[in-house]
Amino acid sequence: MSASKRKPVLVVGLGRFGGAVAGTLSKMGTEVLGIDSNRQKVQQYAADLTKVVEVDCTDGYVLRQLGVADFEAAVVAIGSDIEASVLTVLALSELGLTNIWAKANNDRHARILERIGATHVVFPEQRMGERVAHLLNERLLDFIAFGDEFAIARLCAPEPIVGLPLEMSACRRKYDVTVVGVKRAGKAFIHAVPDTLIFPDDELVVSGKIKDIERFAAI
Ligand code: ADP
Repeated sequence: MSASKRKPVLVVGLGRFGGAVAGTLSKMGTEVLGIDSNRQKVQQYAADLTKVVEVDCTDGYVLRQLGVADFEAAVVAIGSDIEASVLTVLALSELGLTNIWAKANNDRHARILERIGATHVVFPEQRMGERVAHLLNERLLDFIAFGDEFAIARLCAPEPIVGLPLEMSACRRKYDVTVVGVKRAGKAFIHAVPDTLIFPDDELVVSGKIKDIERFAAI
């Protein structure tokens, strides 16, 4: 979808997570209404977002007055104050929003949020913690897991496949990973094809089971 067609988004809570969501959306050209009860946060984001309001978002009446019922998507980015997070999701759900993303602190918090109307619950700290654990393997440069088993990773080309075209190194057959893309120093990523030759400083984007990617990175 092009930026101009993106629907306006409500971001409640402009802490580190909410601020990053709101700022990124804004940079992509999406209209963002940011809400925070903290004046400093409101001032901090006033120039970057379409509109920023200083209110207590647990008050359904105030949210209605702000016209939040017209938003198709909302992000509730309050983690530390679980009561405020729950009351806000409930208020948005009662106002009829059907696309509510909410940040959770733990599994119990997540289950409550899902029960009361959150459609997507995210755990930014846990996910980042898991990623860092994988990235401590210094051959892995980036890592995104999909569930417990599957991942996509960016890694330095392992030495045994350097100097060979991909079809000769047979990564899928030998190591159970698929090389999706290749980045050569100073050049853009290219899609990997059978005759892509791997150079010593290439970075690869590979997909596969987590254990297979870890094994491949260490060959
Ligand atoms: P992070 O870890 O991402 O910084 P926090 O949970 O610490 O997340 O921050 C959440 C933000 O939500 C803070 O800026 C805080 O001022 C705001 N906030 C918390 N409770 C309310 C509320 N009831 N109404 C509006 N904003 C709130």
